[in-house]
Amino acid sequence: GTTTLRRVSHFFLPFQPTSFNRTMASHIVGYPRMGPKRELKFALESFWDGKSSAEDLQKVAADLRSSIWKQMSDAGIKYIPSNTFSYYDQVLDTTALLGAVPSRYNWNGGEIGFDTYFSMARGNASVPAMEMTKWFDTNYHFIVPELGPDVKFSYASHKAVTEYKEAKALGVDTVPVFVGPVSYLLLSKPAKGVAKTFDLLSLLDKILPIYKEVIAELKEAGATWIQFDEATLVKDLEAYQLEAFTKAYSELESACSGLNVIVATYFADVPAEAFKTLTSLPGVSGYTFDLIRGEQTLALIKSSFPSGKYLFAGIVDGRNIWANDLAGSLTVLESLEGVVGKDKLVVSTSCSLLHTAVDLVNETKLDDEIKSWLAFAAQKVVEVNALAKALAGQKDEAYFSANAAAQASRKSSPRVTNEAVQKAAAALRGSDHRRATNVSARLDAQQKKLNLPILPTTTIGSFPQTIELRRVRREYKAKKISEEEYVKAIKEEISKVVQLQEELDIDVLVHGEPERNDMVEYFGEQLSGFAFTANGWVQSYGSRCVKPPIIYGDVSRPKAMTVFWSSLAQEMTKRPMKGMLTGPVTILNWSFVRNDQPRFETCYQIALAIKDEVEDLEKAGITVIQIDEAALREGLPLRKAEHGFYLDWAVHSFRITNVGVADTTQIHTHMCYSNFNDIIHSIINMDADVITIENSRSDEKLLSVFREGVKYGAGIGPGVYDIHSPRIPSMEEIYDRVNKMLAVLETNILWVNPDCGLKTRKYGEVKPALQNMVTAAKKLRAEL
Ligand code: GLN
Ligand code: ZN
Repeated sequence: GTTTLRRVSHFFLPFQPTSFNRTMASHIVGYPRMGPKRELKFALESFWDGKSSAEDLQKVAADLRSSIWKQMSDAGIKYIPSNTFSYYDQVLDTTALLGAVPSRYNWNGGEIGFDTYFSMARGNASVPAMEMTKWFDTNYHFIVPELGPDVKFSYASHKAVTEYKEAKALGVDTVPVFVGPVSYLLLSKPAKGVAKTFDLLSLLDKILPIYKEVIAELKEAGATWIQFDEATLVKDLEAYQLEAFTKAYSELESACSGLNVIVATYFADVPAEAFKTLTSLPGVSGYTFDLIRGEQTLALIKSSFPSGKYLFAGIVDGRNIWANDLAGSLTVLESLEGVVGKDKLVVSTSCSLLHTAVDLVNETKLDDEIKSWLAFAAQKVVEVNALAKALAGQKDEAYFSANAAAQASRKSSPRVTNEAVQKAAAALRGSDHRRATNVSARLDAQQKKLNLPILPTTTIGSFPQTIELRRVRREYKAKKISEEEYVKAIKEEISKVVQLQEELDIDVLVHGEPERNDMVEYFGEQLSGFAFTANGWVQSYGSRCVKPPIIYGDVSRPKAMTVFWSSLAQEMTKRPMKGMLTGPVTILNWSFVRNDQPRFETCYQIALAIKDEVEDLEKAGITVIQIDEAALREGLPLRKAEHGFYLDWAVHSFRITNVGVADTTQIHTHMCYSNFNDIIHSIINMDADVITIENSRSDEKLLSVFREGVKYGAGIGPGVYDIHSPRIPSMEEIYDRVNKMLAVLETNILWVNPDCGLKTRKYGEVKPALQNMVTAAKKLRAEL
């Protein structure tokens, strides 16, 4: 743990001076907790499994914190965050701070321990977990506070103070970071049994006294700065919500006297109204702004930044893995110096580094050229400080010129630019790309060919991934088994899956995706323009991390990616075998995307590559092709005004993939969420023949869209059972649900399928569940 980290920080600092100018103004909004090799993940999981003690876990956590603080301190960062470490989630930490434990966890007051904390996060044998939802537009998920008029708040977690003291004992004076009181409430939901209309902001008066308690303790411990993250300020807020900020910070002003207060915003620009509110907050010394995302922040700062306040300029991107263009940043920063004053400008990250990978030093698979284009969290800390030093007149020329050389090589590298791809993608703009025949006529043509029963049954793609299967893939990758052996093993697996589906009497089959580790990685590895890291993990929720591929260049498809397996699977059965692809928007949204061209440009390029694959599958005799867009909704921008533009190019990209197929080829898509009421018209606009969607937890929500009279003519398969749970749904329950759907949807467009892929389930669960599903469909058919 610790030693590795310390070595890491020096490795990338060949030009580090031996003494630091402590007045250098640099700040980090927040730092990843997981550790460079996911040390926290493994410590958590081993603790949860009962394989290690609470002390073991605490030791790993303390080592991580100390190495992170030391690393930032060694790099010369002036404002180093604390309390950004978390055993699970910073919003849950705030819930603990406030003692807002839902009653079902039977907490008896006092300091909240691991038991209560992890029960809220993950549930326990008798009570389910609290709900989890996406943190703004990132892939990080937080635990949603459940609040109501009866919650008795109390100061129930001293974590922030303990961590502040812990850092201090290590010789590092930190800035304790909190989820701000107003954002905390705005991110909450009314608890079960509380009216949906309950005004969560009415709880402000009840939580502020606890914020005051912790502030007082921090002051006593010697803190001189404190940071409140109020990123909800970048969302579309109403006047009464903005007023809550004024109220909260007026109320906290005296408690904070003697402390410098930073209010942090990130992920987008702050709308003009909110900017006014924010910069007028009483008792605040400085603000962080995201200078990477959003367009108007610089203009607002230049026209109306309040005098005498600190500007923490978020110029190093916390959400990407690209090295900063230091020369460009320096120009921007110098122009800001003129606005806010030399002594009030602090160089910072655009947001917490939680959303980027941890440390480039552990990348052994990447070649040096690509590596020179990248900066993970550890490297971004160094960039922030290098910029601060340059502003202070101590520019590290060698470091800057190495950076300039890397920027230049990225611009001119033939690995990045592929003229033909650029041209083809540019030609797409402006046109519609829509299949010539309308969807109902296409469905008729397809039915003639496929001859499916009404309420056709299918699954979403993957079948259980056994340990044995993972071993085969791993050994093939490591060249421990030959291609021949690998193909044989995968073929056997496909054959088993096909046979099982025939036995179950499913109508449209899948091959089970045994050759895929991950639905994006599998395609990324076969496309040009993608790179893969060994340790570029980013926390998704709790101990779960994702390792997004890096799209560094123009995307093209050197050769067919799935045709071999799909045709082999089709040969095993007379029933239609679905070709199985991941759509361009999902590949984009689950990757680290290049920042040297607009996102839509990259998406169009991926769309063209997938289009080639779709057409190759069709040529190989595959008549049903599913193009998953699991993550289409995830890409929605934070502010409504920007939704239209995103949805336009996202949906266009999807249509591009299949505009070239015959009417008789049936295009399916799949989405991993059911709350699409607000984007239903875009979904219809995708013009797929059949859409299968997650629906397990929200029949009503989904059906209400159709009840409200939205005209929907394509095939639709709302998941009839939840695949995230090991529970086996009964035949009756599935029957009832499909019956309910039939009340609002035409009989001839309804499909019967699970919520999502079956990859994480066991065969012992999958077989009876699918059996019940097919039986329910048959019973309904007989009655119709
Ligand atoms: N076809 C994929 C599977 O079944 C879809 C997964 C997803 O939607 N997340 O695994
Ligand atoms: Zn899904």
